Amino acid sequence: MKEYTPKERLARALKGQPVDRMPAVSFTQTGTVEQMEACGAFWPEANEDAQKMAALAEAGHTVVGFEAVRVPFDITAEAEFFGCKIKPGTREQQPSVVGHVVKDTADIEKLKGYDLNHGRISVVCDAIKILADKYGKELPVMGSMIGPFSLAQHMNGDDWFMTIFTDEAFGLALMEFTTEFNIAYAKRMVDNGADTMVIIDPTASAQLIGAQFYEKFVVPYHKKISDAMHELNVPTVLHICGDTTQGLALMESSGVDAISIDQNVDVATAVSKVDKAIIVGNLDPVNVLWNQTPEVIRAASQKVLDAGIGLLAPGCGIVSKTPTENLQAMIEMAKSHRY
Ligand SMILES: [Zn+2]
Repeated sequence: MKEYTPKERLARALKGQPVDRMPAVSFTQTGTVEQMEACGAFWPEANEDAQKMAALAEAGHTVVGFEAVRVPFDITAEAEFFGCKIKPGTREQQPSVVGHVVKDTADIEKLKGYDLNHGRISVVCDAIKILADKYGKELPVMGSMIGPFSLAQHMNGDDWFMTIFTDEAFGLALMEFTTEFNIAYAKRMVDNGADTMVIIDPTASAQLIGAQFYEKFVVPYHKKISDAMHELNVPTVLHICGDTTQGLALMESSGVDAISIDQNVDVATAVSKVDKAIIVGNLDPVNVLWNQTPEVIRAASQKVLDAGIGLLAPGCGIVSKTPTENLQAMIEMAKSHRY
């Protein structure tokens, strides 16, 4: 079979088209301390400066060997953009959202008319441009963003889960708002050279809110984002944390091309629950990729491959202290796999 460039190979694999072998990529964050030391771009600066962000993303390819470049490394830039208070990250820790800005529909109104040329979301777009100029012909350039449900949670706070049960009109209005933002931001990333869109929506889980609420509060919004990306010929990958087994068919009904599952989901079951979505995952970032040896990682990878995974990858964002040789063990296994 024809050998493909990594860019062609991933695009084909995400569409379910035949490829010469499995692509070796990560759809979740790729930054590690070893890569920071190798390229000289460290967190937290690499979350805030486009050149450094691009340099650390590039290290995922040049130092580790992932066949793609991907930004950013955290999922707080979007909430920060809307004024949520952020606990700054460190060299080893990603930033987190600690303050919230939306408690009612009037608060949503106040945030309308935003300008995407601000804050770290514009830094992410600049980093994508740098990466696309350098690698865009050869490698997939992945743009990643938090999904609309988890962004709504960041903006509304822990009340969010109660809100969707008790105040549907406000809950849906906030979903409309975050989704509209997600679409505008994703389009901007694509304009800058992103060719694959990763939606990280950690808490948008049917397990947490039930199938009925998932269908109402999540599916239509993921569908809008996916449709907007497909109009631009950009495949979409959806990552939700935890045991998503019961939600997989609903996740697929939003039209995403691939679903990233974590280690709580059985791979063979996941594959059986979807029609054509590519199942991606699901090596445990902590108990396998961080804390085990390359030998154990090869065995764990083989198990996942044997279970029929569509693309072998970390089950969630990797831990910053993950050794390069551990990631390389996973990459080797992906590269040597023929479908
Ligand atoms: Zn996750």
